[in-house]
Amino acid sequence: MGREQVEDRIERVLYSEDAIQRRVGELAKRIAADYTERGFAIDSQGRPILLVGILRGALVFMSDLVRRFPMSVEYDLISVSSYGNGTAPGAVRLVKDLEKPIDGRDVLIIEDIIDTGFTIEYLKRGFAARNAASVRVCTLVDKTARREKPVDIDYVGFTLEEDAFVVGYGMDYAELYRNLPFVGVLKSKFIQ
Ligand code: IMP
Repeated sequence: MGREQVEDRIERVLYSEDAIQRRVGELAKRIAADYTERGFAIDSQGRPILLVGILRGALVFMSDLVRRFPMSVEYDLISVSSYGNGTAPGAVRLVKDLEKPIDGRDVLIIEDIIDTGFTIEYLKRGFAARNAASVRVCTLVDKTARREKPVDIDYVGFTLEEDAFVVGYGMDYAELYRNLPFVGVLKSKFIQ
């Protein structure tokens, strides 16, 4: 499918490429300032903060975010899958773990979108159990309508109050649309 055909499937754009890029720059600045103020930019062993991107949706967001950071960061990737609609609602399974231990590290989880909250809750709990020094959360989109687990989200790009299924900028429906540079709502006829 060509780009035009893909874009034709979008009902409306929620966050344009420009708006996203502006927001990503603001977030990078704010996060850097916060960690610097708290004295967490570098830990006692001289290690910078560790960004943990959740595959695959957060890849695009994290790659833009790290390039706007005014200080050193490390990053790693983790992959989880959820059985949202299956027999065990909210159950999250680890598909690919981090490469290195995180004990004593200041971890910032990078997510594309937080919906029910199950994924983030699972990861926050898991990282705390591995003795991370701190665990914070940054999401591009905070979709609040279907939240089931109350989670503290430290940095939010955009708050989405309507219960819409969105795609683009890393987010998919059936693995498509991730490479769109904006975030939009998919026409309902393309959702099975
Ligand atoms: P949660 O565990 O329900 O918070 O689910 C979070 C995950 O569900 C995200 O990382 C996305 O992969 C996926 N997700 C939730 N809502 C959307 C959406 O509107 N578009 C694309 N993916 C979504």
